[in-house]
Amino acid sequence: MIHIGKTYLKRENNKSYLCSDVTIETKKLTLWFSIDSKYEDYLCLHRADAFVMALLIPATTYNYDIKCDDPISARLKYFLINQLIPNLAEHAEFNHNITIESDITTVPYKNKGAVGVGFSGGSDSLYTIMNHTKKDCEYPLTHIAVFNGVSFEKFKENASKIYLENCKAAQRFADELNLKLVTLDTNFYETLNWKFTNEISTYRNISCALALQGLFNSYLISSFHSNLKSFRIIRYGCAFYDLLTISSTSTESLNIYLSGGNADKVEKISELSNWEPSYKYLHSCVSPKEPGKKNCGICKKCKDAQIILYALGKLDNYNTVFDIKKFKENLPKLIAYYLVRSDHLAKSIVKLLEKNNIEIPSQSLIIAKQMEKVIDLKKKNDTLFNDLY
Ligand SMILES: [Zn+2]
Repeated sequence: MIHIGKTYLKRENNKSYLCSDVTIETKKLTLWFSIDSKYEDYLCLHRADAFVMALLIPATTYNYDIKCDDPISARLKYFLINQLIPNLAEHAEFNHNITIESDITTVPYKNKGAVGVGFSGGSDSLYTIMNHTKKDCEYPLTHIAVFNGVSFEKFKENASKIYLENCKAAQRFADELNLKLVTLDTNFYETLNWKFTNEISTYRNISCALALQGLFNSYLISSFHSNLKSFRIIRYGCAFYDLLTISSTSTESLNIYLSGGNADKVEKISELSNWEPSYKYLHSCVSPKEPGKKNCGICKKCKDAQIILYALGKLDNYNTVFDIKKFKENLPKLIAYYLVRSDHLAKSIVKLLEKNNIEIPSQSLIIAKQMEKVIDLKKKNDTLFNDLY
């Protein structure tokens, strides 16, 4: 059993904390979300929504029923019980069809009518921001958000520092686009430390958005896996089933939308390459460098972004975020890497190179042949390729 106690506010050092005392079996802890006190009204008090979402994967994984002292928004509870939880339980043996015991409320939480999206600097996030700052878009953005809910956990002891650096970069970006920034800290890392963040990332993001139901009327999730083509319910990649999660987590006050389903990675980066704010803020990297500074250039995501921009003839615009000299030195090996890879993205990238008449260096063909010889294609993985690059 997971027992989620009544929510309450605590104030300390100009911060306001939305708290709940939680008991997981016999372990007692206090979960909190915190925000600058001047924005205290944004926090959603007297509803268990955000806490239920934060605890849903621990509950379904370890078969803990949930009991809440505060009510849950009726729409959210209905979706969870009738849609999300039974689908998880049916399709993935490690999840369980748990129950949720709570009152419900159908009264919308009074909010500021804001429209928000998370800012990471990644191509999915920037693509959403680009499209939702266009004239006449359906949900014009008012806020970008940085949540310390999960994204920075992988950086362990540096997580807080990297969160704060991201907040600073996000503020510069928001100022340039005339958007507002909202930042929300949590103590999830200390209290709910979860080994594989890919299992929980979407849940934690939505949990933070639900904690801000005093602000948001609409919240957009920028997903890489936003269409049925890549839809899968798997434990170690909750983003693969974002379509299900996101369609199951709105409330009477807050609508959660999945954005970017109309474009794949190549299309997103192609469109972004014509959008000037991306030149300084594209942060495709998985390493802990904050948006607005240099990407590592060698992780898989950096390689993908650079080669696509190179194929488009736009890479030089990104000289503040990528080391283009280093990229060009490694180009033959990098192209070989894409020639050998057999996944959909790599194939699209090779097609783009061909379509734009980018010459494939003869050295790339030789390296690709060598790679094919030493690599069992069925077992190939990016770690091996990373060593070769
Ligand atoms: Zn990188």
